[in-house]
Amino acid sequence: MSEIRYDRMHDTDVIIAPERLHRPDINKAESTEEICPFCEGNETMTPKEIFALRESDTLSNHKGWQTRVVANLYKAVAIEAPHQHHNGRFEYWDGFGAHEVIIDTPLHRLSMVEWNHHEMVSWLKTLRQRVDDLRRDHRIAFMALFKNEGYDAGSMQSHSHTQLIGLPLVPKLQRDLYRRTREHLHTYHSSLIESIIRDEEDAEIRMVDKCGEFSAFCPFASSYPFEVMIGSKNCIGQIDTVSDGDIDALASLLSSVLQRLAQQLNKFAFNLWVSTPPLGEEAKECNAHRLIIRIMPRLYRFGGFEVNTEMMINPVEPELAAKLLRGDDNG
Ligand SMILES: [Zn+2]
Repeated sequence: MSEIRYDRMHDTDVIIAPERLHRPDINKAESTEEICPFCEGNETMTPKEIFALRESDTLSNHKGWQTRVVANLYKAVAIEAPHQHHNGRFEYWDGFGAHEVIIDTPLHRLSMVEWNHHEMVSWLKTLRQRVDDLRRDHRIAFMALFKNEGYDAGSMQSHSHTQLIGLPLVPKLQRDLYRRTREHLHTYHSSLIESIIRDEEDAEIRMVDKCGEFSAFCPFASSYPFEVMIGSKNCIGQIDTVSDGDIDALASLLSSVLQRLAQQLNKFAFNLWVSTPPLGEEAKECNAHRLIIRIMPRLYRFGGFEVNTEMMINPVEPELAAKLLRGDDNG
């Protein structure tokens, strides 16, 4: 069983998860032409489905789905583990948490860039359902919702999929963000994230595209080359409460951004992060938070500097990245 251990030197937490060691390797899987457990027709190869968007006349764990959600076979944390915190000099949590895999599409798509509008909409609706369902479990203090695409982004399975990890604690970076959001709200009576999006819209130079309520831009202090953030300055809810109309616009904008990135970077590995609603105490100030999607292309590996300082070195100016992504006179 895994454990979440507190690192008192760096005020962070670490998941020690021996089960992760047995994950199949994407490179090996591709070379031996193994049957893909995520393709339609191979439902028996995965753990039983927790949720699926499927035709009404089809049976669970059979064909006829648009998205399927199953427990991760190689869990970092487990929902059946005790929800127990151990204090002392060696402080830890038993490996309690939720670790789900969302199979994004029944087709053997290797990249999100290939998805059509319907696939993008089904995916967003599935994220909405899973976050809404898991937030009712009051043992979960934070949900991480993310995609790793490509080997350089940490993906071990080539068929398009998303992961959701629910933890009994809030990770440090997120804790810091909540604190700053709260301070900004109390000082300026407005939302920090809203100000950031508003300022980027006003500055224009880093804007990439817009659709409906949403804007896509390369953030002023992008950590990654060609990093793109998508968000709305208006209070349209979080991923678990976003409306069908806003999902439609968000799907269109996300597709546009991915196409633009593929045009500049060809086949590229990336991490994608979807913000989740603050839970517990933080949920009271939910209006200060905004639904954000962050796309982080992984063109370079990290070194000792980045790991020890949490300070990234980005060789591409966000202003140039945005210009190229907009398609202005070939950069
Ligand atoms: Zn497949």
